[in-house]
This record gives sequence, structure tokens and C-alpha cells, in this order.
Amino acid sequence: MAYFILLGPPGCGKGTQARRLSQSMGLIQVSTGDILRQAIADKTKTGLQAAEVMERGDLVSDEIVTALIAEKLENIGEQGVIFDGYPRTIPQAESLDQLLEKCGRAIDCALEMTVNEAILIERISGRFTCADCNEGYHDKFKPTKVDGQCDLCSGQEFKRRADDNAESVKQRLLEYHQKTTAIISYYQDRKLLRRVDGMASMDQVYADLESIIKTYC
Ligand code: ADP
Repeated sequence: MAYFILLGPPGCGKGTQARRLSQSMGLIQVSTGDILRQAIADKTKTGLQAAEVMERGDLVSDEIVTALIAEKLENIGEQGVIFDGYPRTIPQAESLDQLLEKCGRAIDCALEMTVNEAILIERISGRFTCADCNEGYHDKFKPTKVDGQCDLCSGQEFKRRADDNAESVKQRLLEYHQKTTAIISYYQDRKLLRRVDGMASMDQVYADLESIIKTYC
């Protein structure tokens, strides 16, 4: 049972890769972005607090995020975990270590996907997902094979995130540089950081991540 973190700027492909790795390697994917979007859809108190902050592209408070993660970890059994989009600040990384320590666990490896940021705005602005099975697509880089129909489940409804517009993306990148890049050194100092080239093809990135993860499972 191993614990992994996927790191990288918004739009680098963390979510797509984490999803695929969780399916093939039997890891539980824990994405704070997905948990928060679900809270917004469910109109919970947390969701109501987070919605506006997320739409602007700012980070949700460490208190809210840590409480969500603590709850999630309580319900995880003996499976390994891949965290995606979390931790995003040093206090989050520290509280994750404390939460894991309480149950005799620890992060095994943080995987950073390195990308050329010039392409991120275009990548994010064109993305959408199937409303039924959540498969990810892109207007230019990965359109559906049949227009208006999901390749995987044939669903015909698609959704776009409220924060996937140029203005919010710029703010998300700013937040990433101001608050999140510091955690790369956090894991590097602990000798837990590995890097993969996030500019390679999706299949190549997946193969690179998988081969590292396999050495821990
Ligand atoms: P991306 O990495 O592409 O920005 P996410 O789905 O991971 O997408 O996050 C979307 C938004 O959710 C963030 O911009 C932020 O507002 C909020 N969020 C997600 N995870 C965290 C976190 N760990 N800490 C604070 N805010 C978060």
C-alpha cells in the first residue's frame, strides 16, 4: 500500500493521469478539486464557501481542504492512494504528513509533471468532460471521435468547468507559483521527488509515471 502525490501546474494533465493510474494500478484517486466541485454540486456548506473562490482561480483555505482530506482518509481502507491537486501549500503538506503519521503511513513519492507553461492556457481553455463517465476531451487536441458523442460511454452531454476561462487560468497559475511550487522543494528535501516530462504524449507520460509507481507497489 503506497501513497503518491502528482504535482504540476493547472492543466498539466494531473487529473487525467491520476484517473488512469488509479484504474490500472488499483490506487484510490483523491482529488481535492473533484471533492470541492462535488461539494458545490451538492450545495453543502463547504461547497457554498468554496464556489466563488474557485471560480476566481484562488485557493480554497487550508482549513477547509485539510478537513475534507481528513474525512476522506478515514474512509480509505488498505488501498494505496494517488493525491492529485493536493497538497497545494506548505501547511497542507505538513498536515498531510501528520494525518498519515497518525495511521502509521507516509508519502512514498511525489511525482512532478514538468511542462512548458506557455501552452497551458490554450490547453485548459479548450477542455471539456463527458457528463456521464467523466472522460476528458479537448476541442483541439482531443476531440470526440464522433461529434457530440463520448468515445467511451456514448454519452451526449458534456460539461466545462466554471474556472476554465483565460482570466481564472491566469489567476490559478499565479497561485501555483506563489503557493504551490514551494512544496516541490518540500518533497525534494525529503528525497521523495521524482520528475517526468509532462510535455511528452499522454501515453508516454502515463508509461513514465507507471514505471516509477510500480517500483513502490
Ligand atoms: P487545476 O489543478 O487544473 O487548477 P483542480 O481541480 O485541482 O484543477 O482545482 C480547481 C480549484 O479548486 C483550484 O483553483 C482551487 O480553487 C481549488 N482547490 C483544489 N485543490 C485545492 C487545494 N488542495 N487547496 C486549495 N484549493 C484547492
